[in-house]
Amino acid sequence: MKMLTPQSEAELAEMLAGASGPLCIQGSGTRGLAIDGEGLSTRGLSGVELYEPGALTLVVRAGTPVAEVAALLAAENQQLAFEPMDHRGLLGTEGEPTIGGVIAAGVSGPRRIQAGAARDHLLGVRFVDGSGQVVKNGGRVMKNVTGYDLVKLMCGAHGTLGVLSEVSLKVLPRAEACATVAIEGADLADAVAAMSAALGSPYDVTGAAYDPEKQTAFVRVEGFADSTAYRCRKLVSELGGFGSPQIENEDAGLWHGIRDAAGFHGRAGDVWRISVKPSDAVALAPRLQAEALQFDWGGGLIWALVPAGTDLRAQIGVRGHATLVRAGADTRKRLGVFQPQPGPLAAISEGLRRQFDPKGILNPGLMG
Ligand SMILES: Cc1cc2nc3c(=O)[nH]c(=O)nc-3n(C[C@H](O)[C@H](O)[C@H](O)COP(=O)(O)OP(=O)(O)OC[C@H]3O[C@@H](n4cnc5c(N)ncnc54)[C@H](O)[C@@H]3O)c2cc1C
Repeated sequence: MKMLTPQSEAELAEMLAGASGPLCIQGSGTRGLAIDGEGLSTRGLSGVELYEPGALTLVVRAGTPVAEVAALLAAENQQLAFEPMDHRGLLGTEGEPTIGGVIAAGVSGPRRIQAGAARDHLLGVRFVDGSGQVVKNGGRVMKNVTGYDLVKLMCGAHGTLGVLSEVSLKVLPRAEACATVAIEGADLADAVAAMSAALGSPYDVTGAAYDPEKQTAFVRVEGFADSTAYRCRKLVSELGGFGSPQIENEDAGLWHGIRDAAGFHGRAGDVWRISVKPSDAVALAPRLQAEALQFDWGGGLIWALVPAGTDLRAQIGVRGHATLVRAGADTRKRLGVFQPQPGPLAAISEGLRRQFDPKGILNPGLMG
């Protein structure tokens, strides 16, 4: 595929002003959301504009690799609190995930239940709309809230409203210690009950996931070392009614695996990501008739591996969102990647798309 790679925001604006056909917008294309059209990559828009560790603020160009951002923050003992998932293992894609791609797709990980989602840490954006106009919204600090909140709109719009050129993020200090309580011998009902109890406890849980194949729920705590050890001991004693809780030492690999749905890597079949009320997960799980399941966010996020072509969305029957994360092109086309929006919401989305992309060139057909 021919790939446009603007090296500056001005060049990006020029390209969009002059474009007339559909553009497939991507960072490095690691999230597998390509459409038919001419490729436009933000990889050339890379680099840090401003990093003020003392103000917990980072302003960075959209094509900057996530790994570069993580390394920069780690050098100051800071991190992106929302723990963005890396889709490469699940989708078999290659390349370096970019920070713009994370924000455009609204990608968050296990810590979302405690720290918030990607959009909650996004302070400001610069982007170019479908007519080539440069738009700036938001600020560099949280208190600077002005005008229409395009910042929240751009996060999760998957490039359909504009091509991000720069993002401003709130960053957070990295915890001194991290520990996990593993509750073995728990069925799904026990696991959801245990995770709800842990999330409702005063012990500030930053991850709550369940692996049905191992029959084990995982509850993570982070913070100062003494406090982490104390809270783990309290959780072990309070979660005894749901299985056999014990403190696990191996953390980073375990939570990266949960974040990236590693249990499904290299396994054939379609992968769906379903977001529901955690208490609905227990009744919903058997209805999905999946080959394998993984649970995060206390049961509110379900990963399902099903035979290729299965319409899992039709089997949900409770309020929620089902996204088709991995499937062949035909299945994606037939079932749609995203949960269909109710009529009034779809009309608002369509109106916004027309306003920001009058020529209909930005990832057309990807959302709605
Ligand atoms: C702990 C927890 C508790 C919950 N409790 C409840 C509850 O009580 N009641 C309830 O109804 N729900 C509940 N949910 C579900 C959750 O609120 C819904 O999934 C929510 O509506 C989706 O928002 P999100 O921020 O999770 O979106 P995301 O996770 O970002 O996305 C959800 C879906 O929407 C799609 N999407 C994202 N952005 C757009 C866009 N711009 N246009 C179109 N599609 C888009 C995504 O691709 C995905 O399929 C809960 C979830 C959790 C994790």
